[in-house]
Amino acid sequence: MAKIAILGDIHANLDALNVVLADCREQGVEEFLCTGDVVGYNACPHECIEIIRDIGCPVMMGNHDYYVGCEKLNLNDFNPNAAAVVRWTRDQLSEEDLDWLRALPFTRTAKGVTLVHATNDRPALFGYVFDNLQADANFTAQKTPLSFHGHTHCPMIYEKSLQGVFRIDPQDFKLQMGRKYFINVGSVGQPRDGDPRATYVIYDSVAKTVTFRRLPYDIAAAQARIRAAGLPDRLAERLAEGH
Ligand code: ZN
Repeated sequence: MAKIAILGDIHANLDALNVVLADCREQGVEEFLCTGDVVGYNACPHECIEIIRDIGCPVMMGNHDYYVGCEKLNLNDFNPNAAAVVRWTRDQLSEEDLDWLRALPFTRTAKGVTLVHATNDRPALFGYVFDNLQADANFTAQKTPLSFHGHTHCPMIYEKSLQGVFRIDPQDFKLQMGRKYFINVGSVGQPRDGDPRATYVIYDSVAKTVTFRRLPYDIAAAQARIRAAGLPDRLAERLAEGH
């Protein structure tokens, strides 16, 4: 086992997921890990759950996975667009799909790395990590040198060494001994860093390298599915903007 793909924030975007999985095959990926949010925002939640479930890899609980699976949740606290997507997504899923979502863990260690959707310090609260202070809180709870997460949809590297915590723009790099890394793998299905291309990460567990992948996909096709489903138009527009 060497090349491990880490996918996150797929968000029911089948067009983006198919392109990412084709790239994984080309890159010689042997194993998969998923930081969660398989559903929400886009129009193919059932298809994406089936694909990820069939891969059989560890998948973490994302906030959208949680909202869709938790029928007791009060959607009145959500903005109307978000509540509409949660309701629509529930209607597309089988009981088996919903049970699969409900059983996802918040955090897990696999292949020597820790996976979490948001942060290792309080994984069930789905806090956002955008700065060094938030990353430092994560590092206090991160037991392994390497941890992957998502949630912000912006790929990023946070590094902790004796010198402190540093936020480093996404770039390919080799892990250094004695340091900890908390790596945001970006989003397959709804990137928000201004670049609309699908994003994922390859970790080579032998060479100890991390590679960020960016892939163009058929955004117009994904937008057409959103509009055909009657989901809010803003969700289609933002795919092209990468926000
Ligand atoms: Zn997300």
